[in-house]
Amino acid sequence: MKTIVNTIILKGHDLTPIKSNISIGDGKIIEISDEVFEGEIIDGTGTMICPSFLNGHTHIGDSIIKDCGDGKSIEELVKPPNGLKHLLLSECSDDKIISSMKNSMWDMIKTGTTHFIDYREGSLKGIKLLKKAAIDIPITPIVLGRDPIFHDSQATEDDIRKTTLKLLKYCDGIGLSGFSEISKEVCEIVTEECINRNKISSIHVGEYLKLQKKSLKETGKTEIERSIDLNFKLLIHSTYPTNNDLNLISENNKFVTLCPRSNGALNLGIPPLTKFIREKINMLIGTDNIMLNSPNLMREMDYTLKTMRAYYKRYIDPKKILKMATVNGCGNSSNNLDKYNLNFYSTINKAVIEEGNDVQLFITKLTSKNPYLNVINRVETDDVIGIANKDKFLYLNNEK
Ligand SMILES: [Zn+2]
Repeated sequence: MKTIVNTIILKGHDLTPIKSNISIGDGKIIEISDEVFEGEIIDGTGTMICPSFLNGHTHIGDSIIKDCGDGKSIEELVKPPNGLKHLLLSECSDDKIISSMKNSMWDMIKTGTTHFIDYREGSLKGIKLLKKAAIDIPITPIVLGRDPIFHDSQATEDDIRKTTLKLLKYCDGIGLSGFSEISKEVCEIVTEECINRNKISSIHVGEYLKLQKKSLKETGKTEIERSIDLNFKLLIHSTYPTNNDLNLISENNKFVTLCPRSNGALNLGIPPLTKFIREKINMLIGTDNIMLNSPNLMREMDYTLKTMRAYYKRYIDPKKILKMATVNGCGNSSNNLDKYNLNFYSTINKAVIEEGNDVQLFITKLTSKNPYLNVINRVETDDVIGIANKDKFLYLNNEK
């Protein structure tokens, strides 16, 4: 058991800053109070405690090819099965892929991330490589698998279902590349089996305007409409929604992960964050392919806050951005999200700092008068003092 004393804690669903002591032990938050002084005492003077981050979208498997192909189009770079990424990765040994994934997971830990939702390619073998890489690291991967059979127009429904079930035994859900490569029939099987097994079904949608227009022309519906019709739970990007798309996402209580730095790196524009906020959409934030971006969510939040303020020429509350990386992934006490089968926030991610919850937090230097901007605008990697995930507590930097 440890107690961090005299620190600023971002408590509860609303990240309310309070000055207090916090005791943790056996993977739980035991007490938050001025009176508690139990176990090992850590002086938290000049620090703050923030829920640790959930990175809402990564492709950690491409950690070994950082910044390859900069300047190429998104199709040339990452479109399966023949994008540059897939060709380069096919030439890398498993050991090299594992060690580069480990480095990326440590990069996440050092910058406050304990949970990440990974789109894992390479079928069952890819899932196993990631799980092997995560051993001994106090991080929780939430793995969404896929298989090349999903792109195979000759595959039977039976084969697709069997492959989906095989993957779901080993991972937390399925993450699909997009409607350009994946048929409606494959999507139906994937979402049906994910719902039956309480797993996450996810797909990239509306990442750029051409895709939305192509979808409308070919099917009379946008990619976002199709993803909702097919009952996917977690939508990635949605950078180009129509007004009706936003209503649908909100009414159907979907989660959307925005990846603004990825959109920037690929010259794809800026997600309409202010519209998402207005529609009260459940938003997460992700760093997307590690070949494009570091998995540092503090960099992502900094870019997001300032790009949006500059672009919309209006104030955006930094707390709303910090929530995307923390408590938004835990659902919202005012709506019953369990009925929508979005269990990842309730069973895997309990980042809300409240007594009795799992420990998922980090301690960092506090140099700003505003704790939200401290995290988004000030904290450097060396400022993160310690990180806790479940029963693991790791000192990263003893110098406060
Ligand atoms: Zn992606």
